[in-house]
Amino acid sequence: MTPGSLGAALRAARSRLVQALGLDPSVAGLEAQMLLGHVLARPRAYLLAHPEAALTDADQAQFDTLLTRREHGEPIAYILGEREFFGLTLRVTPEVLIPRPDTELLVALALTLIPEGTTWEVLDLGTGSGAVAIAIAKQRPKAHVIAIDQSGEALVVARDNAHRHGATNLQFLQGDWFAPLGMGARFDVIVGNPPYIAEGDAHLFQGDLRFEPKAALASGAEGLDAIRAIASKAAQHMTPSGWLLLEHGFEQGAACRKILAEQDFQGIYSHCDLAGHERVTAGRLVGTQP
Ligand code: GLN
Repeated sequence: MTPGSLGAALRAARSRLVQALGLDPSVAGLEAQMLLGHVLARPRAYLLAHPEAALTDADQAQFDTLLTRREHGEPIAYILGEREFFGLTLRVTPEVLIPRPDTELLVALALTLIPEGTTWEVLDLGTGSGAVAIAIAKQRPKAHVIAIDQSGEALVVARDNAHRHGATNLQFLQGDWFAPLGMGARFDVIVGNPPYIAEGDAHLFQGDLRFEPKAALASGAEGLDAIRAIASKAAQHMTPSGWLLLEHGFEQGAACRKILAEQDFQGIYSHCDLAGHERVTAGRLVGTQP
């Protein structure tokens, strides 16, 4: 491999990332390609097709800067400033949780419930980057989606993402869960990816999570405070036979089913993510609304 070539730079970068972060070499190689592609404003396919192409000193210097940030643990999504979710490229900043592939399950389940062409009302609680709300709004353009977050900084990012993707059937409100809604606001489907990690859980101090907003991750001693708060107030904002769908930790399925059962939800079911872990629990309140 010619010194100063793209191929040589990628190889060196891969070993740096393996060394610094203990990444699997294939993951480190992918991250190196994503960072160099970002510097050169070229797709990864270009890098792979042109391993002999020369890297300018300026590009090498910029690549080094990004690699150093990554070596210090900064999430790749924050360095690149974007992340792919449900086929959408979303802007992400340290003010928002990085959208996860697991959360695509939440969107997919919501879409199975919301018939195409219906003007259903959909609510996304704790929208963060807007990932879930925008994905639903784009897939169901006739539906009306409201997305709430308590963080004004997150809503700036979410609104920007909605604008980038031309999601016009979507409205953002700031506040604590249901608080910004009027008394009469009722939804056919309520979705949420609330914080659900237990305070003090070791994961909060590892990997990407160290850099993400704590308020989007941790929620009480068992990680269930937000889920309890949402479940206890959902009835006031659901249409008869409306659905509540909540993402949760991979070991929280049973606890979430219990929380929903205590609030008189019916048809309670936990759906598994691609790794086979219970990840989203759903329920409805047929005919029991106040
Ligand atoms: N799924 C994330 C994680 O475990 C947590 C997201 C959340 O708390 N909503 O890394």
